[in-house]
Order: sequence, then structure tokens, then C-alpha cells
Amino acid sequence: MRNLQNAAWLYLGRSIKDIGHIDQLISWCIRNNVAKLLLQFSPMDLKTRSEHANNSRIKIIDALVDKCTENNIEVHGMISTLLSITQDKNSLPLQGKNHYCVDYHGISNWEEPLGGRGFLFDPTSDGVKTLVANYCSDILKTFNKLSGIHLDFIRYFYYDSILDINTKNAGQLILILKEGYPIKLEMADGSKTTYFIEKVENSYMDPPIGKSVVLRRRCYFCFCDRCLELFQEHSKIKIPGELKTTNEKAKWILSNCQVSWDKFHADTITNLVRCIKTSICSVKSDAQLSAAIWYNSPYGNELRNEPLSPSSEYKHFGQEWWKWADEGLVDFLCPMDYWLSPENYKDVVTKQLKKIKRKIPMYFGLLRTDEYSISANRLDEYKNIVMDINIHTQNSISDQKNNGICYFHYDTWKDIT
Ligand SMILES: [Zn+2]
Repeated sequence: MRNLQNAAWLYLGRSIKDIGHIDQLISWCIRNNVAKLLLQFSPMDLKTRSEHANNSRIKIIDALVDKCTENNIEVHGMISTLLSITQDKNSLPLQGKNHYCVDYHGISNWEEPLGGRGFLFDPTSDGVKTLVANYCSDILKTFNKLSGIHLDFIRYFYYDSILDINTKNAGQLILILKEGYPIKLEMADGSKTTYFIEKVENSYMDPPIGKSVVLRRRCYFCFCDRCLELFQEHSKIKIPGELKTTNEKAKWILSNCQVSWDKFHADTITNLVRCIKTSICSVKSDAQLSAAIWYNSPYGNELRNEPLSPSSEYKHFGQEWWKWADEGLVDFLCPMDYWLSPENYKDVVTKQLKKIKRKIPMYFGLLRTDEYSISANRLDEYKNIVMDINIHTQNSISDQKNNGICYFHYDTWKDIT
């Protein structure tokens, strides 16, 4: 049986702390048929390369790219496209609400970052489009031996966060809980998150014996004024003038024209992919573009004993990735098919391949962590699934579009592979 051609995500600083570790990485790639390394870059790398040529991280990147090139292993610069994680918002490249997403309730991510530090760029902001497109082309200009750009987090964030709290012994608290009202949770480090009281149930008000309270926050983006305006232009649908708040408008859209909203949402992300493709090809005509994509929203349905929700990555994340393949915007895709049993992995992989009609290769992501360990034997089961699919779907011997797996990530896989 022929071996699979694979890919791997790579973060520096863990196993690869100096140039001496690169040989080990190369041997691992050769042993595991890894032909594409997706190496994470940060905006600091560009600045450091031009200002501090002797920086140790930059030296490692340069040596790694050289060694990989000698061994016919492509290196792609991976970026976190629409998410920036930081404790200090003054360090962000774009300042101000205008560039960050607003959720279903009208709360700006600039004011309330995810988990206190996750900032979501709004893909309809011209500032964001320019920043991302230039960032990608600058990576290729600065590190000119890279084969392309790999887009991580090329999507909207989505999570319908629900807290179901037992209030039997909550005492007087139940007297102030009213449906529809916001409730703010603030941590000692200053991180804040707002929830909304969705449902209140009490057994008695006197004495106060509660039953339950459900708090909910729909982290569903982006409903900022600009996006609502663009949605109306895009869909030719007019949001009724009597609706005043963002939340009223968002509710109206989702109950009256969800299909048009989903299309606008996904087209916005596709437009950004197109804009990045144009930008990178202007500096390197044969630069490849690839992306990490999801199979479901929210992710990890099997871990929660929930069924797959078909096309939910399109609806909630705005990822119409089969269209990216169809239009030739991406050269390969890495679906993050994590936390799936081999049986469900096979099902997901089969459906994903069907969707892109074998136009481009796919490297099906496998995650291995301490929490979700995969043995060498179990890995073989996943690999056999992809090999079987390759054999059964290959149209001819000249069909080079073989699919493989994508290791997430080198550090967690290297000891067993
Ligand atoms: Zn917006």
C-alpha cells in the first residue's frame, strides 16, 4: 500500500528551541511523509527580522526553511487570521471598536474580549482587510523561501454559551433575577463577561426557594452597524426602521431572513480569502494559499455526546470552504477533524471530500494532546481510512491529488511517530 503524503502544524519554542533540533524535525518529516510544514508566524517575526538579524527565533526559522527546502519539504507561514490573543489591547495593531466584531446582543468584542484576551477582527473593516492582506504578503517578502500562507482562524467566532444554575438555595438572590436582564461576571484580573437572564423558575417567593436560572450569551458575530448596513445592501432586505437596538435587529434577521444572513456572513469570509489570495500572488505568483477549516460548530460534538450539525461551520463560522476550492482561491485545505472516533472520522472525511469534488488535496487534521491521547495503533486506523479513500476514489494513475493527514502538532506527535 502506498504511503500517504502528509502535512503538520508546527510551533517553535517547544521541541525546537535551537538550530540543533532541526535535524530531528527533518528526520520526523521524512519518516512520516510530511511534505508540508505549516509554521506559525507572529507579526513580531517581521519586525524582528528587519531589526535584529541575530535574533535566535529568526535564525531558527531561516535555518529550518533552508533545511526543509533541501529536503523537498514545503514550509508555509501560518497566521491567526481574524483572532489576536493578548492581555494588553494597546499592543494590538488596530485600535478602536470599529475594527472588532459586535455580537448578537450588541456587545463589542473590543470592550469584552473572549476570555478576557481574545480579540476578533471584523472582516468588513477596511483596516482589517488591509492589515491581513499586507501581513500575508509581507511574510512572503521577508521570508522569501516559503511556499505559501496557511490561514488559521479564517472565520467568525461562535459559541452559544449557556449556564443552567440551580437556585434552590440561592436565597434572596432570586428576588432580583428578572428575565431579559443582563448580569455581569467580573474576575479578579478585571476580565468581564456579560450574560443575559434567559429563564427564571422559582418554587416559592416567600420564603425564597428558587428552582433554576438559565443565563445565556450568544457569542454570534458580527452585528455591528457597518455589517448590518452591508447586509442590507448585499441581500436587498430592509431591516424595519422601528427596530432600534442591535439585539432587536439581530433577532429580527435570524427569525426572518437567516438564509440571506448566512450567505452574507459566508461571502464576507470568502471575500477576505480572495483578497489575501490576490495580495500574496502579487508578491509571489506561485504562492500557495491554504486554510484550516472546521467540520462542525461548536466543535467537539462527539465529546459532548451530540450529533453533528450539518453545514454548521458555514452557518456559524462563515466557512464556505468548498467555494474557496471551487474558485481556486486555496491550493489545499486542512480540516480540523479532531476528537472523532475512527468511525465518525471516516464519515466526516468522506463528506468533506465529496463537497470539494477532489479539486484540491485535503490533509485531515488529527489532534493529539494529554487530554485526548491517540496511540500509534489508533493513528494507523485513521491513516488506513484516508488511504482506502484515496485508493477507491482515484480516477487515474496520473491523478496526483492524493489526500493525507495533518498532524496537530509536531510536538505532541513526534514521540510516537
Ligand atoms: Zn461588523
